[in-house]
Amino acid sequence: DHHRSRALCDGDINVSFEFFPPKTEKMEKTLWSSIGTLCPLHPNFVSVTYGAGGSTRERTHSTIERVLNETDLKPAAHLTCVGTKKEEIDEIIRDYWEIGVRHMVALRGDAPDGVGAPYEPTPGGYVNAADLVAGIKRIAPFEVHVAAYPEKHPQSPTVEADIDNLQAKIDAGADAAITQFFFDNEVFYRYMEKVRARGITIPITPGIIPIHNFKQVANFATRSGTYVPEWLGQRFEGLENHPVTQNLVAAAVAAEQVLELVDQGITDFHFYTLNRAELVYAICHLLGLRPTAAEQEKQAEVVS
Ligand code: FAD
Repeated sequence: DHHRSRALCDGDINVSFEFFPPKTEKMEKTLWSSIGTLCPLHPNFVSVTYGAGGSTRERTHSTIERVLNETDLKPAAHLTCVGTKKEEIDEIIRDYWEIGVRHMVALRGDAPDGVGAPYEPTPGGYVNAADLVAGIKRIAPFEVHVAAYPEKHPQSPTVEADIDNLQAKIDAGADAAITQFFFDNEVFYRYMEKVRARGITIPITPGIIPIHNFKQVANFATRSGTYVPEWLGQRFEGLENHPVTQNLVAAAVAAEQVLELVDQGITDFHFYTLNRAELVYAICHLLGLRPTAAEQEKQAEVVS
């Protein structure tokens, strides 16, 4: 446990959090309460997703703007190539730079008919994530993250072809990658071995999804080609009507996953928060992350 004790005690752990732009006022309250809870853990950055086909364009923008204006967090804006011409995308990118955003997550996105449908580039648009990365870098020196797939993208014929595509994104200027979520750490280790063997050296941060709702997450997993080990399903079996226990189990499962990664020398984690703070806060706590004394006092005031 050499890595674990060193990493957890010396403050070597870095985290980032992903949020999605809220649709309703109630969801907006939930998001900002979650940001309030997670902010004192000092994430490297927080990212805000971009809805399919640009459906959340304004909401992504206003969430990013509010993060900039009301917190000292560094926002990363997701952007996809779907359904928008280059000139319009370029305008979005320039606008982000002008308001002070310095970090983007560049994605292709999916066909409007759903994740499984064959993808056709939008006429006049960026053709894929690599093309978008190049477009962003032409406009301004943003830090750019891209997606990586330890279990390969469902539309990639092989893991090798998928790593070729990651290489293309790096050649276009990508600085770092965040992985699709996975539950079997072996999958991640094997992927990293292959990626490093190919001479790819950029940081690749594992994406971790806490299981707030097993059925929902298993459903996401099926669509994204993520392997759901049988033992994982068994752990949540019969807890449908036990939300508190389900959450305790989810925290235990995620803690086991990240601590095992720490033992293997991983120190950076990206959390898919689904805009909820509790599980992520618990996992980060186990990773040794703490608010400062002053922040704890402030939180205590809010709670009491
Ligand atoms: P790309 O890297 O462009 O590649 C996708 C697939 O196409 C790969 O299989 C690749 O091999 C293949 N491919 C690419 N170029 C070519 C080519 N020239 N010829 C042949 N094959 C090619 N979606 C959203 O809508 N909004 C979000 O905010 C969002 N955030 C995400 C964040 C993360 C960390 C991750 C992992 C995914 C996110 N997604 C998001 C989902 C993402 O848009 C989908 O997974 C999409 O299907 C692929 O996007 P990509 O950027 O990986 O595409």
